[in-house]
Amino acid sequence: MNVKIDKDLAEEMKSKLENEKKRLEQELSKFTRKNPHVEDDFDASFPEYGDKDDENAQEVAQYTANKPLEITLEKELRDVNQSLDRIEKGTYGICKYCDQAISKKRLEARPTSSSCVSCKKTLTQEA
Ligand SMILES: [Zn+2]
Repeated sequence: MNVKIDKDLAEEMKSKLENEKKRLEQELSKFTRKNPHVEDDFDASFPEYGDKDDENAQEVAQYTANKPLEITLEKELRDVNQSLDRIEKGTYGICKYCDQAISKKRLEARPTSSSCVSCKKTLTQEA
């Protein structure tokens, strides 16, 4: 590998990512249970308001409302964990498509970036 990794930047991003991880797990724990069998999978817990019909309807509504948030938070958490993984492996800050360094500015704006701006652009245009 001929791309030099900015160790200081990786350290800085590591603490940012670890804080982010705590925040996301906290958010998720408010309305989900961690799936003990699958890593990083959370299940929205079914709220218990009561046994009356309108209470049951409220439970379903709440559960349905939580689902998209659960999916969003899970995805963010996965990105954060993958970034932490890349820091451990020493590949953090390198574009996964072209093996070039991702600009510091981009990483600071979005610490979970795994591709450089030009690859991202190409991908978005193709999509
Ligand atoms: Zn790239």
